[in-house]
Amino acid sequence: MGTFTTVNPGNQPVWVNTNNCKACDICVSVCPSGVLGMRYDHTSTLGAMISVDHPEDCIGCSECELSCPDFAIFVAERSDLKAAGLSFAKLTDAAKERQAAIIANNYMSLNQGAK
Ligand code: SF4
Ligand code: SF4
Repeated sequence: MGTFTTVNPGNQPVWVNTNNCKACDICVSVCPSGVLGMRYDHTSTLGAMISVDHPEDCIGCSECELSCPDFAIFVAERSDLKAAGLSFAKLTDAAKERQAAIIANNYMSLNQGAK
């Protein structure tokens, strides 16, 4: 794994190297906070790509990073976020409900086309 893949592109709590992502849905399934979702992507041979839809609700649990088989998703160090004047979110009922809705939606983002 080169350094490029682990560089935070700009004080993000969670970010993706889309070159490595195989669109397997695993990270979406393990996120407790409804942060992630798959989006249809006709430019990808996979037909879909991971999307960080709600970074503001990332609680920094690292489940996504630990579960990804392809080292394609990364979570910031708490200290790095703090140095940037940022922090991870607390888990809310609304975020938990969104996660349940994403799972019910076959791991697809609930706001297709919003990006
Ligand atoms: S677990 Fe990794 S490879 Fe699978 S969808 Fe998430 S980022 Fe992509
Ligand atoms: S660190 Fe936890 S809350 Fe943040 S995107 Fe990954 S699984 Fe979701």
